[in-house]
Amino acid sequence: GIGIIPLENFAIPKSENIIDDKNNLIPIRLRSNENPYGPSTLAKNAMLKNINISNRYNWEMLDELIEKIAVKHNLTAQNILLGAGSSEILNLVALYCSKKSGNLIIAETTFDYWTITAENAGLKKIAIPLTADKKHDLSAMLHAIDTDTKMIYICNPNNPTGTICASEELLNFINEATKRTKVLVDEAYLDFTDQPSLANLVTENKNLIIAKTFSKIYALAGSRIGYAIAHPDTIKEISQLQFATNGSVSVVSASAALASLKDDKFVTDTITFNNEVRKFTVDQLENLKIRCIPSHTNFVYFSLENYNKDLFEQLKKNNILGTKIYEEKGKWSRITIGTMKEMKQFIKALE
Ligand code: PLP
Repeated sequence: GIGIIPLENFAIPKSENIIDDKNNLIPIRLRSNENPYGPSTLAKNAMLKNINISNRYNWEMLDELIEKIAVKHNLTAQNILLGAGSSEILNLVALYCSKKSGNLIIAETTFDYWTITAENAGLKKIAIPLTADKKHDLSAMLHAIDTDTKMIYICNPNNPTGTICASEELLNFINEATKRTKVLVDEAYLDFTDQPSLANLVTENKNLIIAKTFSKIYALAGSRIGYAIAHPDTIKEISQLQFATNGSVSVVSASAALASLKDDKFVTDTITFNNEVRKFTVDQLENLKIRCIPSHTNFVYFSLENYNKDLFEQLKKNNILGTKIYEEKGKWSRITIGTMKEMKQFIKALE
């Protein structure tokens, strides 16, 4: 049988851009806002241990995970729905809001891959431009609501721009918007900030749904665990959309999530490292006359308007995976904050 393999403390940045056993250069991944420091040692040990019980359905462990998540947010198990990543939650909420035809309101530019689900289910997408400083234009989004609006999506902090909505403004928006439609707030990156979750509002508000993920701060992107937080009636309605609710999370992943919830040091280390490396990255980009939007996340949005080389050619030559141009006007792109060593290589590639 397999025992628990002791693992060194992975909260220390690993060196990257190394050669694998087939002599291929492993690329530096700065594309998908992954956490380069994890998973936490506790999570890795839990995963190894629980491989042994992967022959069983593990409803008890899923119940325990739901219970622990509920406690973390000061809510009950009935407020929580698990998914294989928050992507599954976003898709389910899109289907839930598409039960009657109408429109969905979303910012332009934001995390919108999941809207294909809503559009295929019949919703029409109404995109509201961000403000000049790349924040959600909450008042314009509020004004865009009409009698056909079935949902509004707010990504807070926003991907790809890294901006955050001011707390009070967001609370007022939620209060007004949920009188008229459902609001989905995606808190994938909120743990990188000091702003509290809106989770406590769901006990009184059936039209507010919050999406959370273990992919970012807990460094479990490949384990695929996310969850929805909403009023018990809303959770019940969403979970009735598919068979085997909560069941798409494997026992190995559930054990990793449970262990991660206990590893506060991993979370604070990630935030400390991220802040330090993000500051370095932004300072260096600005030295190169590249304008950056102040970021509250583990990525930075920057304008290539004053950069006269081909960024993507430079990245390719240096074996670095970046993203794309999000907005042609201003040539805006995004880079994930990796380890200090990785970001030094990123800056060197640009120079
Ligand atoms: N929401 C936002 C804002 C994201 O950036 C991502 C992934 O990058 C997701 C949701 C989906 O993440 P996952 O399905 O891994 O939870």
